[in-house]
Amino acid sequence: MTIRDIVKLPDPMLRQVSKPIATVDADTRRLLDDMLGTMYDAPGIGLAAIQIGVPLRAIVIDLAKETEEKKPLFLINPEVVWSSEEQSDYEEGCLSIPDYYDMVTRPAEVKLRYRDRQGEAQELHANGILSTCIQHEIDHLNGVLFIDYLSKLKRDRVVKKFAKAQKLGKL
Ligand SMILES: [Zn+2]
Repeated sequence: MTIRDIVKLPDPMLRQVSKPIATVDADTRRLLDDMLGTMYDAPGIGLAAIQIGVPLRAIVIDLAKETEEKKPLFLINPEVVWSSEEQSDYEEGCLSIPDYYDMVTRPAEVKLRYRDRQGEAQELHANGILSTCIQHEIDHLNGVLFIDYLSKLKRDRVVKKFAKAQKLGKL
């Protein structure tokens, strides 16, 4: 397992649409391990492959608290097949946009289909923070960031701040 560099705003890579993984094999599992290690190291609760510069549709999530046993979830080629009309608000953050948090409204529940670490087809019905986290990470696979849900004014301000920090070599 290698801890990889996290791609940060305003890197255009974050706007790339990731490609499906055709075959889940040893390379895929190596990628998932690197993603998980990088996420735990950060630390964070979710990471998409593009956040370590790999444009493939793979996500790792672990909502276990620091004191709890680790419970990693691996989502390959996830697809939302249903989302609830009921919405919920969560203050979101992102490892690619460090130290910035804001409220985002999303469907409260989602159902998804995906492949697991072994390549087996799976289904999942998620609510609460897991639902929010899954939707945030799937957005990454489509080049969408949580700041896209904020007003243009707010978004521009965040992007500007990170562009400036990058220029000054602070990222
Ligand atoms: Zn994110």
